[in-house]
Amino acid sequence: PSAMREVMIDVPKVRWSDIGGQAVIKQKLQQAVEWPLQNPEAFRRMGIRPPQGILMYGPPGCSKTLIARALATESGLNFIAVKGPELFSKWVGESELAVREVFRKARAASPSIVFFDEIDALAVSRGSSGGGNNVADRVLAQLLTEIDGVDKLGDVTVVAATNRPDMIDKALLRPGRIDRILYIPLPDANTRRDILKIQFQNMPVSQDLDVDWLVENTKNYSGAEVVAVCQEAALSALTEDIKAQCVQGRHFEQALQAVCPRIGPELIQ
Ligand code: ATP
Repeated sequence: PSAMREVMIDVPKVRWSDIGGQAVIKQKLQQAVEWPLQNPEAFRRMGIRPPQGILMYGPPGCSKTLIARALATESGLNFIAVKGPELFSKWVGESELAVREVFRKARAASPSIVFFDEIDALAVSRGSSGGGNNVADRVLAQLLTEIDGVDKLGDVTVVAATNRPDMIDKALLRPGRIDRILYIPLPDANTRRDILKIQFQNMPVSQDLDVDWLVENTKNYSGAEVVAVCQEAALSALTEDIKAQCVQGRHFEQALQAVCPRIGPELIQ
């Protein structure tokens, strides 16, 4: 079907250095994905097999997608991204086929990463969706079948992301399936400082901008919201004077009023 062409394969261009903070997570993922590819012999010697799948969970806008893309870039892997809800809406009535097709492409493009964003949409606990042999159950079954075809899966790593880990069917998280689970938290002060540093590589800011103040005043902001504050501040500078050469502290003050943290306490762990 024509819709299948929408499964796009690419090698992303996100480097680890584009992502602020998250040092431990970056290292864990490198170990999990890069090492076995670079040293397959060492893994055989030790009698261990690389993880088949990794789940990242945590509040929205905190770099799960960025991390998945950087992992592909830095490991030289092809990357196939699928958004859970889109798979249902674009492939109405043939969602299981779509799952099969995604994995077929991933195997053909291996070594590769298949990234399922909002995986909760594809793997809701059985029964919670009304029971019976409905589309959702069949999609989940297909997903399990593909992941279990370990030998066939070869150098395909499944990376999934969700804001709702509680929704995911436990069968998917069993050993040998998506069994590495990483929490991606809201950015702490150091991470926010890093994110700002990365932003300011391309955004001229006044020399006397108090970055510590900005870091402190973006507590509870997601990474995406910190980026939004910078964009808003730059816009505010341009609104004031279209010839402005740099963004000043007062523009950030205005931006902090306009962009407020939206993540409720229920998503913070
Ligand atoms: P969602 O759950 O909504 O899919 P996500 O966790 O996958 O969110 P991303 O899409 O990776 O979040 O991040 C959204 C945007 O926020 C990024 O494109 C980037 O601009 C910014 N961002 C978030 N965290 C960071 C970070 N640690 N370093 C740099 N930029 C970040």
